[in-house]
Amino acid sequence: MENAWQQLLNRLAWADPEFTYDDMCACDAEEFEALRAAGFISDMSWATHVACTVCPNAHRERVRWSENGKRAFIPCPAVGTVDVMVERLRRWRASPTQLSTWFAQELALSGKIQPLPAGQTWFLGRRRVAGHTPYFFFAAIGPDELSSAVKAVREAYGQVTGMLFVPFPSPISAEGGKLRIVDVGKAASLQAGRMVVDLQFVAEQFGDGASGMSPKHAQKSLREHRRGILLTYMESMESEGIQDMTALATHLRMDRSVLYGMVRSDKRKYGESRLKVMLLKIGCSCKQWDRVPKLPKQA
Ligand SMILES: [Zn+2]
Repeated sequence: MENAWQQLLNRLAWADPEFTYDDMCACDAEEFEALRAAGFISDMSWATHVACTVCPNAHRERVRWSENGKRAFIPCPAVGTVDVMVERLRRWRASPTQLSTWFAQELALSGKIQPLPAGQTWFLGRRRVAGHTPYFFFAAIGPDELSSAVKAVREAYGQVTGMLFVPFPSPISAEGGKLRIVDVGKAASLQAGRMVVDLQFVAEQFGDGASGMSPKHAQKSLREHRRGILLTYMESMESEGIQDMTALATHLRMDRSVLYGMVRSDKRKYGESRLKVMLLKIGCSCKQWDRVPKLPKQA
């Protein structure tokens, strides 16, 4: 099952953040409803055109309705009349403004949310964190628009210390200099139907060290110990078809690189609360995760 939160973030990186029933039907319905209830996803008018699903051509057709308005259908040159499931006509739009409002509230920022002239970029406010009072920004953009968003922030606010949230993984966190570029997916997550920001993760980005991003990585023995824990869990879940790290990561609703990051203690990849949720799911305590047993494990 796909992660509705991740789907939402993916859409925010697109110029037109619209999605259809076909895009979302593989997502967890409860998660999807939670995002709708929070206003991150809003309903749009129903689709007037839909792709044919019964012949190999996937041609798009205008939807026709029966006289009583209960049955929808399209013509297909190969098959004739094709009934369309009415649910498939539903459409939604991701709301970056609502996400901006929510971010400012969850981070308890002071100041007023301001859209930047560049569009799709917002100043969210400021707060005291890790000895700084950084400026927070959010940009609903794709990776190729990052440079222009950073430029827009610079033009409006100067060389300030800040954090720019973007809806995609950003390996180039140094691009903005004092402006940390952070993937929303790493700083926030959906837990039990509620969106939460990992404040500790946010604070770590402003901590000491080169960029405040990477504490000491886990030693080899610890990494192997953790890999063993995941392997044991994987074996217990074999009947559910979880046979490798990719399948395990999907099952845990995260990217494989995040899971590997947890094994390495690479805090750039995940936040503390996300780790806790993962450990809870696999039934491992934090203590057990962080401590290599003295005796070698029996195979
Ligand atoms: Zn057809």
